Amino acid sequence: MCGIVGYIGKRQAYPILIKGLKRLEYRGYDSAGVALINEGCDLNVYKAKGKVSDLEEYVGDKDISGVVGIAHTRWATHGEPCQVNAHPHYSSSGNLALIHNGIIENYATLKAKLQAKGYLFKSSTDTEVLVQLIEYIQTNKNLELLEAVKIALRSVIGAYAIAVLDKRMPGQIIAARKSSPLVVGVGEGEFFLASDASPIVEFTDKVVYLDDEEVAVLNPAEELKVVNLHNVGVNPEVKTIDLELSQLEKGGYPHFMLKEIFEQPDCLNDCMRGRVNVEANHVVLSAVIDHKERLLAARRFIIVACGTSWHAGLIGKHVIENFCRIPVEVEYASEFRYRNPVIDERDVVIAVSQSGETADTLAAVEMAKKKGAFIYGICNAVGSSIPRNTHTGSYIHVGPEIGVASTKAFTGQVTVLTMLALCLAKEKQTIDEAAYLQLVEELSRVPDKMKQVLEMNGRIAELSRIFTYAHNFLYLGRGYNYPVALEGALKLKEISYIHAEGYPAAEMKHGPIALIDAEMPVVVIATQNGMYEKILSNIQEIKARKGKVIAIVTEGDQVISKLADDVIELPGTLECLEPLITTIPLQMLAYHIAVCKGKDVDQPRNLAKSVTVE
Ligand code: GLU
Repeated sequence: MCGIVGYIGKRQAYPILIKGLKRLEYRGYDSAGVALINEGCDLNVYKAKGKVSDLEEYVGDKDISGVVGIAHTRWATHGEPCQVNAHPHYSSSGNLALIHNGIIENYATLKAKLQAKGYLFKSSTDTEVLVQLIEYIQTNKNLELLEAVKIALRSVIGAYAIAVLDKRMPGQIIAARKSSPLVVGVGEGEFFLASDASPIVEFTDKVVYLDDEEVAVLNPAEELKVVNLHNVGVNPEVKTIDLELSQLEKGGYPHFMLKEIFEQPDCLNDCMRGRVNVEANHVVLSAVIDHKERLLAARRFIIVACGTSWHAGLIGKHVIENFCRIPVEVEYASEFRYRNPVIDERDVVIAVSQSGETADTLAAVEMAKKKGAFIYGICNAVGSSIPRNTHTGSYIHVGPEIGVASTKAFTGQVTVLTMLALCLAKEKQTIDEAAYLQLVEELSRVPDKMKQVLEMNGRIAELSRIFTYAHNFLYLGRGYNYPVALEGALKLKEISYIHAEGYPAAEMKHGPIALIDAEMPVVVIATQNGMYEKILSNIQEIKARKGKVIAIVTEGDQVISKLADDVIELPGTLECLEPLITTIPLQMLAYHIAVCKGKDVDQPRNLAKSVTVE
């Protein structure tokens, strides 16, 4: 996790770095720091515990001059969040400063070796080991920074995106990456560096995405130089980014999360644009068409993902199995990658990740690729690592998601998985024409139905107040809505810190029913579908134990509205598309409860958005 920013050129670096850190704060926000080389070649490092605003306060009127600098917002993996552990880290001599995103897995061994040579460490981070190691190599072998960085990185096991400054060479930044993202922005006589393109976009649209084990030399007096760890020169491929500044701002909403909840109808239209065509009655995903043979020949699909994306994967399993008659397994990427699973070239692995940088998902992709599987990526961040490392894939095109709790990426992922199922089912002829046409039409109506749901925001905000003091919540759903229950519970946990569990409704009686009493709110997704009667019985069971039921029902439901304590009525849709509608009130409920509790909705404690560490 963590955000990295760097600048070198003609302008003062500090304001660019601070603005960049604020854009990247979603990636980590337990401490922040900046290193600048001033005109006199002093290397000034300032660090503070807390957010970027705490850093600004700490910096106050200290010397922030300099046209070269690096900055970091941290999500601690090694060592508590505090000023000493914050990045940048100085080397012992104070000549070097380094920032790092990732984990140096063999840091303890490297540290012991350096300690034996007399090196002292100030922090408990794995990162400080790297800056000391670089300095050790530089001094002992009398090498320039670039060479020392390459040698040091060759002895590192783990993940890193780093940027290093050497005050004796103030005209350059050295940057490198492996398994953590890093983008170089190429301006006129200046370079930018960042974990993603968002800090760069207002200065230049020309970027170079570094690949694993590549090291870049950012020197404004020269062209961008990239080499790999084994000294092979790389021709940097300059790409144009398609990102607007307005997409990165709150646009009048109090929080990014609320903005992103409200963006969903438009996002889904963007996601389906050019893919769902109601006039022509078809759904086309170019990746499916281009790799039709390979996908149709699959003996099974394995969806690998983490967190919210894993929930989207569960819905994907239902929809693909239902329409394509292909067996689908859904795996936590973190478990899958370490399990030596039975997998070969007859399998298709679908990797789902908003950021496209999720470390476990990326590792699962690499492992499955080595075993011969065909890999299909479903990601949001264009040009990120997963899309670059898969055989094919589809972007969800929902725009940057900045709130740490995922909302629009989830509905985008579900939409892409649904389109994939429909497109494939049509090719495979496992869906009858009438059902297909009905689905295509209804899919195109979903954004309007979402808008209807969003109109209930005020009412859900009212309802939320009652639940501010609840300590536990249960979320129940069946069929397509079981993953929605999981997702609703996750949203509440993430941002309000209320303990919540999602369950398949029928499983309640095998354990969780013991928790139900008059204090326990139970959110039940009880829409009019094939499971309606069953879920009605589950509601009766809760009421018999005095539980408080908040029921998510289909408009006009007369039965459950009499039973439940509160009902939220939603427009009806086809059963397999319900998650796109039923998720919305659960997102709003979690949001408003968290706001009532005064929590930091966009940057909840202990979390970060782009999970680039295992
Ligand atoms: N492992 C490093 C630390 O704990 C970097 C964490 C990050 O990516 O923010 O300081």
